[in-house]
Amino acid sequence: MPIDATQPYDPANIFAKILRGEVPCDKVHDDALALAFRDINPQAPTHILVIPKGDYVSWDDFSARASDAEIAGFIRAVGEVARAAGLAEPGYRLLANVGAHGHQEVPHLHVHIFGGRPLGPMLEPDR
Ligand code: 5GP
Repeated sequence: MPIDATQPYDPANIFAKILRGEVPCDKVHDDALALAFRDINPQAPTHILVIPKGDYVSWDDFSARASDAEIAGFIRAVGEVARAAGLAEPGYRLLANVGAHGHQEVPHLHVHIFGGRPLGPMLEPDR
């Protein structure tokens, strides 16, 4: 079920549990500001999630409240993870779902990194 991205941060969400080490993950990157791990239900040969360590519900929340250092560290981590996964060439896709229309399901900001095959057009066309 998509979330309401304006809700307060819920420390019981699954990515908060992963950050606290209460739930395991297939970790690919860990630094002071960001954690990256493989998606449990991959939609491409490479499907990695990058999350900030701070308590942010969504891209909307993060871009409004995070410090410049948190934002810079997170963005750098996304690029580093993609490079380390060998995706810089031939390319990859980033996706951050936000709120109900974005079909965000986990209420802790995450950027999806998809790669490993040509990914096709950006969105399903309007019907
Ligand atoms: P959203 O729709 O919120 O952008 O994407 C949530 C993503 O989190 C989905 O791709 C889903 O497969 C992934 N996911 C949900 N629960 C877990 C989990 O416990 N571990 C991992 N590694 N990924 C998860």
